[in-house]
Amino acid sequence: MIIGILREQNREKRVSILPEQAAALIKNGNSIWLESGAGEAAFAADTLYQANQVSIETREKILQQADVLLAYWALPESELNLLKEGTILVGIYQPLFQFNLMKKWADKKLTTFSLDMIPRTTRAQSMDVLSSQANIAGYKAVLLAANLFPRYFPMFMTAAGSIAPAKVLILGAGVAGLQAIATAKRLGAVVEVSDTRPAVKEEVMSLGGKFIEVAGAADASKAGGYAVEQSEEFKQKQQARLAEAVAKADIIIATAQLQGKKAPLLITEAMLQQMKPGSVVIDLAASTGGNVFGVKNNETILLHGVTLVGNSQLAAEMPWDASKLYGKNILNFLQLIIDNKGNLNLNFEDDLVKGCCITHNGAITHERIAELIDLK
Ligand code: NAD
Repeated sequence: MIIGILREQNREKRVSILPEQAAALIKNGNSIWLESGAGEAAFAADTLYQANQVSIETREKILQQADVLLAYWALPESELNLLKEGTILVGIYQPLFQFNLMKKWADKKLTTFSLDMIPRTTRAQSMDVLSSQANIAGYKAVLLAANLFPRYFPMFMTAAGSIAPAKVLILGAGVAGLQAIATAKRLGAVVEVSDTRPAVKEEVMSLGGKFIEVAGAADASKAGGYAVEQSEEFKQKQQARLAEAVAKADIIIATAQLQGKKAPLLITEAMLQQMKPGSVVIDLAASTGGNVFGVKNNETILLHGVTLVGNSQLAAEMPWDASKLYGKNILNFLQLIIDNKGNLNLNFEDDLVKGCCITHNGAITHERIAELIDLK
């Protein structure tokens, strides 16, 4: 198979695979074509790829001739006409928010695998792109907050006076939230955490965080690891508990998400007004509406004396390791659909292959997305 690595558009710094992962694919009988400069923003120069027998080719040639195209984000629609029927696309395409594009890909007879849809099972862990990137985002969110915060994180007792530890409130204890707890604790902060899944309480406590208990959350045990929408009664109880925590917090790291839906709004303007001037909010859910009132995606603003950062792509700010882990996810997935002689081996009986395949043979094959498109 010819596997093409495309240069990302829109200032994205990550690249789909690094030279070491390209080498593993070449060893398995594939040819790898790289668009010149694709790894540059992640500090992986063309020469590093060339040293691993990767060919540097033009974007046009890769789009027209590669069997598999690797691009972190969806390709510009204007390039669709260049692709041959049956081209395989692998990336993070957020199909639950992109119905029109999915229909166009199906019409063009592309085979698309969106790894953000891979089932959250034990076997899929090594291909779980949401986890590998969320882990970095949680870490970076705390470092960014510490940089913007006009005070220390750790407690200090010095001859010039004492410094109290920063109080960090974390909304959502999924992959990003748990890494944020660990990072904030390492920096010496006091950490409180809210999540609607009571199952995470133990993990929060084992990392040294205090879990904010709110009884009566909707059962999420059948949602494949994801959270579910909550009742109005629960939301009011949670807001009351959160209002107390927000008034004490110096930093909020917001990570709460609902798969394929708008993020829950957890912090109101009134709550924000209770925060001390100089406090910092990092909202990782900004691209789906945010957890915090007033947050703007891809912007940093000052509102009621609080610095609000809306950024759902913080992992891209650590592009080498983000690409390394993402590339390993991609490599593991490609080894599932390409055999060790470089031949395509699509097995739709495999729940991982089926679970993240969105379009194939001219149709939308993902049952949930096909149903949602029909309902629209
Ligand atoms: P996510 O990004 O979808 O959401 C982040 C967190 O926000 C979740 O913990 C969620 O419960 C929480 N949340 C949602 N609504 C909320 C609200 N109103 N108030 C407070 N918190 C709210 O989650 P994620 O990081 O992708 O992980 C979700 C779960 O899936 C975790 O338990 C994780 O361990 C599990 N997981 C399993 C696998 C696997 O087995 N392959 C891989 C990754 C994650």
